[in-house]
Amino acid sequence: KWDLIIQTLKEDYDITDMSFRTWIKPIQVYSVVGDKITLLIPENNNDGDGKGLSYNMRVGYIERKYLAAITLTIAEIMGREYDVTLMSSIDKEKIDKKQKQKDTSASKNNNIQNLNPNYTFETFVIGNNNNLAHAASLAVAETPGEVYNPLFIYGGVGLGKTHLMQAIAHFIIKTKPELKVLYVTSETFTNELIDSVKNQKNSEFREKYRNIDVLLIDDIQFIIGKESTQEEFFHTFNALYQDRKQIVISSDRPPKEMETLSERLRTRFEMGLPVDIQIPTYETKMAILNKKAELGGYDIPYEVKDYVATHIKSSIRELEGALTKLSAFAKLSSNPITVEFAEEALKDLISPDSRREITPELIIDIVAEHFNIKSEDILSQKRSADIVYPRQIAMYLCRQMTTNTVQSLGKAFGNRDHTTILHGADKINKMVISDENTKSTIDILIKKINPS
Ligand code: ADP
Ligand code: MG
Repeated sequence: KWDLIIQTLKEDYDITDMSFRTWIKPIQVYSVVGDKITLLIPENNNDGDGKGLSYNMRVGYIERKYLAAITLTIAEIMGREYDVTLMSSIDKEKIDKKQKQKDTSASKNNNIQNLNPNYTFETFVIGNNNNLAHAASLAVAETPGEVYNPLFIYGGVGLGKTHLMQAIAHFIIKTKPELKVLYVTSETFTNELIDSVKNQKNSEFREKYRNIDVLLIDDIQFIIGKESTQEEFFHTFNALYQDRKQIVISSDRPPKEMETLSERLRTRFEMGLPVDIQIPTYETKMAILNKKAELGGYDIPYEVKDYVATHIKSSIRELEGALTKLSAFAKLSSNPITVEFAEEALKDLISPDSRREITPELIIDIVAEHFNIKSEDILSQKRSADIVYPRQIAMYLCRQMTTNTVQSLGKAFGNRDHTTILHGADKINKMVISDENTKSTIDILIKKINPS
């Protein structure tokens, strides 16, 4: 619109071609913020007859002679009034410099630019798959260096480890801005270490990683097998730990399963609190879908959420992907989303193969084998503890890993009532939280049932 504005200005105020070219044409729109427009008068304009005037005089001249007219013309063309100011390129330089200083001083203390602004505690949905990890993270965020050190968060892909770590970082940056918080992936750590060795800047590297209050290292499993990175990380860890600085580590597996990790590093990782994030239950998935739909402002019918929560098994990232896809399709087609529509739209995400593979029969067989009992025992009416426990484990896993209704599960478990299935699954659900052994049994069984 700027061209139209200055043409109108020229005509309305009978400005000569010469004056127009000298004074008006070079002006640029620098910014429009709310009802404030800032116009920039560039310095390097030497055509026309402005040659006798210094730059500052030229800015002053334009201001006196044309600013009122420009303001009126803008109001006329735009249909509303703006507060128009002129800026010289000298002012601009000063402003740019200030902005730059602000940016670098903020990034000096905290690498906020590495953080996803959406990964906060507020947007994190708590379910019984992640409540321990969440509680520990919050405690660490509230009192860094004082409770669990290191905090070690582990779990499968797309379950919220990065989200939680960044939530800790956001929280500390907000509540204790004087602390230096550094969030990096272990990949970044490795790459910067390699660079520092190559460029002989090891002291800078150490300064960066040791002169901080909180270090969050994401996906530590990637340093497995990298000897010199492990070595450097070991020293970084010790330096921070001795100063009682908070360390938070995430990994796709618990320390004890990190096979080729050096023993001394493994011991360090186990010193604080290892907490895991499990595959979300149906209820958690529904809660997440509701929250995300609300945040994203989409309206998705209950049956569709139910379909998504039932069919997407193991990753919240996939759950989000499904939601994004559905909302995009829905916007394009302007049709309400139906379950049929979701089936069609999500067929890439929900592969029919994986649906066919995991059946109640398969789960019952694997559980029976694991506990060294017969599958028939699970289906039988026997009530001895050595049968009841595996039976309930199988019920729990069927609820977690299949899409069968509780009624059909009742049938699959030797024609039991569906409330028995609910009760059994619920019992294990509670034990998974309170009992280490049950939890690790479930972990192992899930891997046996679904090795991918
Ligand atoms: P990971 O690091 O474990 O692979 P992410 O933290 O990247 O997983 O999580 C994947 C996606 O799922 C992210 O977009 C994250 O915001 C979302 N997500 C995971 N867990 C939750 C949760 N409990 N509540 C809300 N969003 C979640
Ligand atoms: Mg991650």
